[in-house]
Parts: sequence; C-alpha cells; structure tokens
Amino acid sequence: MSYSIPFNKPFIIGKELYYIAQSVLNGQISGDGPYTKLCQQLLENTFAIQRVLLTTSCTSALEMAAILCNIQPGDEVILPSYTFVSTANAFYLRGAKLVFVDIRPDTLNLDENLIEPAITTRTKAIVPVHYAGVGCEMESINSIARKHGLFVIEDAAQGVNAKYKDSFLGTLGNLGTYSFHETKNFICGEGGALVINNKEFIERAEIIREKGTNRSKFFRGQVDKYTWVDMGSSYVPSDILAAFLYGQLENMEKINRQRKFIYKTYYELLLPLAEHGLLRLPVIPEGCDSNYHMFYLLLKDHDTRMSLIEHLKKQGILAVFHYVPLHTSPIGQTMGYSDGMLPVTEYISERLLRLPFYFELQEMDIRTVVSEIFCFFNIEFLTD
Ligand SMILES: *Cc1c(COP(=O)(O)O)cnc(C)c1O
Repeated sequence: MSYSIPFNKPFIIGKELYYIAQSVLNGQISGDGPYTKLCQQLLENTFAIQRVLLTTSCTSALEMAAILCNIQPGDEVILPSYTFVSTANAFYLRGAKLVFVDIRPDTLNLDENLIEPAITTRTKAIVPVHYAGVGCEMESINSIARKHGLFVIEDAAQGVNAKYKDSFLGTLGNLGTYSFHETKNFICGEGGALVINNKEFIERAEIIREKGTNRSKFFRGQVDKYTWVDMGSSYVPSDILAAFLYGQLENMEKINRQRKFIYKTYYELLLPLAEHGLLRLPVIPEGCDSNYHMFYLLLKDHDTRMSLIEHLKKQGILAVFHYVPLHTSPIGQTMGYSDGMLPVTEYISERLLRLPFYFELQEMDIRTVVSEIFCFFNIEFLTD
C-alpha cells in the first residue's frame, strides 16, 4: 500500500549525487577513500571527537564496541529493553548476560536510578540509548560507571548532532555509535560510525574494522606488510556511501532546522489535545538539545493507539508503533524474562505512536495529520 503521507522518506539535500559520481570516477569505491576521510574529519571537528571510524551500520559499530571492551561469555551488560535489537545483539553475540533495566517515563531513556541496583561483580558495561535524540542522564550514568569501573557505550544511533549539557551525544561515554540508516536524521541508506573517546581504543578499533588485520597501518606505511593480528570483521563501508553521506553532513544544520520546525509544529498543534488529557507529548528535559529525531504520542491505552493507527491509515497516513520490548521477545524469554518485569517499558511500548517525520514533510502535511488526530477524538481542529 502506498500512503499520501508516508512514515519516512529518504531525501537528498545537497551534492550527494555529484559526490557519488566523483567517487566512482575517482576509481576507488571500496572503503576508506577520500569521502570516508572527509566524513570522519567533519564529524571529528564538528562534535569534538577524538577519532571517528565510519562503519557499515550502527549495528556494526555496536559489535565493534563489544569486542573493544573485551566482553566475554558470562559478563553482564546493562541496557534498556526498550530499544532496537542491535543494542542487545552486539553483546549477545559475545556471550554476555543481558541485564535489562527499565526506562524513565518522561524521556523513555534508561532510568539512571535503576542502574546501581542491577550491578553485580560480573557487570562490565552500561549501554545507554538516547531515545528520539534526547540525551540520557549521562552525568549520573558516568559517575556510576566510574565508581564501579564499568565501560559506557552510548547507542547514539538516533542522537547524531544532539547534545547533553554542551557535549554532543556519542562523546560522553568511552565509545559511542551512530546510525546513518535511511530512517535516521542524516542518511546514506545503510551506514554508521564508531565514536572513540579514549585513545587506547584507536589502534585496535582500526584492526577489528579491517577484518582483524593491520591493513590501516600498512596503508600509512607503518608496517611493510599486513597480516592477521586480532579478531575482526568487515565493518568498512564503500566510499560510494560515504560520498552520499558527505553531501548530507555538509547540510547538518539545515536538516536540523527543518526537523526542529516539524517537531515544533506538531507540538504546538497537538498541545490542545494534551491539555484535554487525551494524549501525552514528548518531553525534552532542561540541559538536552534534541536533534528532533522523532515525534511520538502516548495514548491512553493499547486499543486507542491501534484504532488511531487504523484511522490514519484510512486517510493515507502511515503512523507506526515502536519497540516491542526485548525482554518479552522470544529470545528475551529464553533468558528468563517475562511480562510484568519492566512495567514502564511495557506500559510505554503499548501506547506509543510515531507520527510521519522526514525532511521533506510539508507544513500542510503536518496539518493534515494533526487534523485527522483531532477528528479521531471528535474535537474540532481550528486552523488559523
Ligand atoms: C537505528 C538504530 C540502530 C541500528 O542502526 P543501523 O545503522 O540500522 O544498524 C541501533 N540502535 C538504535 C537505538 C537505533 O535506533
């Protein structure tokens, strides 16, 4: 089915296609070509990052982070259940025990007050996920990690170009991960980056990313042949994808401004329904600068959410729910988790609805979506 207002729509904004042509004509379309370097430098300079490595996805970057932190079978990793499956899989692949912790009802981020009670002698890392581009309480999380000697790996897939107290998301933990998947703010189809905030990780990260070889050193002339030196995989993206991405990253502020406009427009138009107590709007706490990754509503209950999805669908509008909690998934159940163990996660995941949100979404489309939501609640939508 095609929708007159889809949920997501990939876009081009600048020189993406020109750069792709250049990349093909350059004669290097494998990884670590000129556009990969340009993207990495741009991210390092703009976000003040020690070292960035582009990867084939955020999933890949998370897998690299798990290897870099030497996660071993039986090690425990603390993470939210309300997240994308890759946050968990990266550590599950290493044999870690996943310790799911509940989220805060306001930001839907890992509840920092529940982390310390979940720590044991086997705990190795905390993985905060910055949901919707709104930062987790990183001050508390980092101080807990310091106290217990734990790694912090930020899943900042949704948080590129957002800030927590003047630092960009991804730069607050030991390692951070970004996504450039076509559903995110800055896109190249499939892509991601590993953000390295501790120098000690750089050399090994280069090796893991290059199939476990010291090829990066070889290209820099630091060794005279390259060979297998560690575990690793194929985490280097094609320079064609980096070329597309560079066209997007050059326009980061323009993209951010447009997303802010979309977010604010939804927020202001929907506020009367929130004031009627019919739904709840997203929360951005003081100290967090959002990148406006998504706009969601929280409905009264599961049935209301599903009927609203149906109502919008009939009008050609695609709105979607989000994460099915990982702890109640078939794999989560094999770990001994069950319904009722993470009440906030379960409550939120049944009631949350994501509205259409993409760069080219027009003000007129936003008004159409909002007026249909008003119509669903039988309330008159007064336009000015
Ligand atoms: C999108 C997303 C990922 C995965 O990103 P890919 O680049 O598609 O691998 C991981 N974690 C979160 C929270 C995400 O939103």
